[in-house]
Amino acid sequence: MPHVCEPGTDPYGAPGDRRLPDSRAMGETCAVPNSANGQKQALRLLDEVVAGHSNAEDRPQQHEMTKLVAAAAGSREPLIVQAGTGTGKSLAYLCGAVGAGSSVVVSTATRQLSDQLLNSDVPLVADAVRTLDGRILAAASLKGRTNYVCLAKVDEIHRLEARANESAASEPEPEALDLGIEIPAPVVVEEDKPRRPNSQDLRALNELLEWVDTKPRSGDRIDAPAVPDKVWAQVSTDTAGCPGARVCAFGEDCLAELARAKARTADVVIVNHALLAQDLISPNPLFDDRDLLVIDEVHELQDYLSSAWGAEVFPGSLDRIVTNAARRAPKSRQPVVDKAFAAVGDAAIVAQELTNLPAQRWEGELPASLAGPLESLERRAGELAKSFDDIVREAGTEAMDANTAALQSARGQLQELAAAINLVRTPNAAFVRWSAVERDGGAVVLRAAPLTVGRTFRERVGSRALVATSATACVAGDFLPLAESIGLVHPPAQAPDGEPLAQNWHGVDVGSPFDYEKQAILYIPDDIPEPVGKERADHTAAVLDELTELVEAAGGRTLALFTTTAAARNAADHLRQKTTHVILEHGELPPAVLAEEFAEDETSVLCATMGMWAGLNVVGPACTLVVIDKIPFAPMDDPLSAARRANIDAHGGNGFKEVFVNHAALMLTQGAGRLIRHREDKGVVAILDPRLHTRGYGQLILRTLPPMWRTTDRDLVLAALRRLGQATA
Ligand code: SF4
Repeated sequence: MPHVCEPGTDPYGAPGDRRLPDSRAMGETCAVPNSANGQKQALRLLDEVVAGHSNAEDRPQQHEMTKLVAAAAGSREPLIVQAGTGTGKSLAYLCGAVGAGSSVVVSTATRQLSDQLLNSDVPLVADAVRTLDGRILAAASLKGRTNYVCLAKVDEIHRLEARANESAASEPEPEALDLGIEIPAPVVVEEDKPRRPNSQDLRALNELLEWVDTKPRSGDRIDAPAVPDKVWAQVSTDTAGCPGARVCAFGEDCLAELARAKARTADVVIVNHALLAQDLISPNPLFDDRDLLVIDEVHELQDYLSSAWGAEVFPGSLDRIVTNAARRAPKSRQPVVDKAFAAVGDAAIVAQELTNLPAQRWEGELPASLAGPLESLERRAGELAKSFDDIVREAGTEAMDANTAALQSARGQLQELAAAINLVRTPNAAFVRWSAVERDGGAVVLRAAPLTVGRTFRERVGSRALVATSATACVAGDFLPLAESIGLVHPPAQAPDGEPLAQNWHGVDVGSPFDYEKQAILYIPDDIPEPVGKERADHTAAVLDELTELVEAAGGRTLALFTTTAAARNAADHLRQKTTHVILEHGELPPAVLAEEFAEDETSVLCATMGMWAGLNVVGPACTLVVIDKIPFAPMDDPLSAARRANIDAHGGNGFKEVFVNHAALMLTQGAGRLIRHREDKGVVAILDPRLHTRGYGQLILRTLPPMWRTTDRDLVLAALRRLGQATA
């Protein structure tokens, strides 16, 4: 008989700072921990990590989370853990999983977080395992194929180079090596033409090639010289472009394949959400035999699943794929060459038609002028892929020569293109389809994304144990929105392999080691205009005045977070005129460099946009004040969000709350969370949006934020900031 959990306690009855407010946050029943030994081992491991690491602290929240994860590893019921900043959740889930003896896949939102986990936390756990049990913990990180050097592409560059050198011997004026693609006529619109690399790119490429010559062990971009994306693209390939290691002439030494092989046998594998999303729907998944799946930064998972399980078609990708295919088509096969040229023609028409397409959601058919050429291109891409496949089969060798492998790779890209076109052009109630203007270059892109992703996610996780965690996993103490978004509420009865799925789940907030009421002031003025309607311009002016006054009182030491790039730029310009502080601006330097400069120059101000609301970790007085211009609602006209809102409304729910308010509450909590990163940190979070006082959703958002000491008194806040500034000066 399952143990029925009491509202307000976790299944283990252990003490914590903040408990579940009601039974809604939990499934109806919870599993009684059935792995007491696993929990014991996990805690022993955590104690060893803490004892062996000078910076690690003994934290009750971390202990509790470790126990919970160890118990969940032996249970079929998914667990959601909210672990506030400073809990040390990475070590908690690693010790919980490894201590319970589980093989585990940990998925994080970004590659940077994956690298951080592999290089900082995993070695601590591995050391502790070795000390306690004399065992070697095998750990690996795996990224998407584009992150590794492709030896076949490098070989192709060398062959092109050799050919260029040969012709140079007979030509008086040698030209730069053209690593772009020759475009057969007719050409596509001018701005989409591949260009010759400039000399800076060539220098970067040569640096990369020299690095490859040293036979790097990983081939991972993180270990390579830093180069622009377009240069890296010359030496890497995506999954569709890889003919497969079995047939590739470089398959045996392939660095991406070596990384996959290592990951396949590792006890702990670190991936990012984008790769996990692909693996979950792959016909040949790498990780379906693992005991436990840990999703870190789970509040971001839905976006990654939506993107990975959707499709996009834009002029640049069409052009690249079909012109590459045309270049590969064997000259001796005229019908295939004709098909390829016809596809290039279709792609040019589609690119032209896309420039006329308005940005909007498409529930029915696309305009006939675009739908026709798209359908034709889809058909031709499919036929061309089939022809290439036939040629490859005729070649019939085990290990292919470079030309046949290139044909195979072009075939994969054409198939993927045909599938993407089909998804974006065909009306389908399960998908949202829309056109949007890209900020960079103004090209119009066609996109499709699943209306919901939760049910498929839960189904694909199957019978593996699941732990989902984040510092922001619940909205106003409620885990239900997150649980719904990942399919834990009303899950499918069984996984695709027929395994029954647990219908229950539980959520636990282990709290935070920080004393927010004593460490942080939350200042929300009630006398400034609202950032909407007629008051919008007045709000902008009021934000600039308020920001300037707060920055001066704090003596710099400010992270100012904005919802738009224009607002951040405007504020940075204003502060440069009105103050003498060093003003750093998001976008002027890479985020990691900006973060470093902000931390080093204690009296500087960093004006940042959405990319830095989460992930920035500046401990100490350099970040004494966090100013947020307004509640970070997603644009109401964003087609995917609007469609999800309408879908929830149609099913009797509150779409505005579920889609917009919940998301804004979590984002705001992430932004506010930049202030207190250590027990010694103190400061002010100023949210310059009076809607938190005046609108119904304001209370819900406020209850989601950490429990800071709250005020509307400007003078009190300015005085507090001056005191803090003097104390640290
Ligand atoms: S197997 Fe694929 S990724 Fe590896 S070298 Fe060959 S083409 Fe490149």
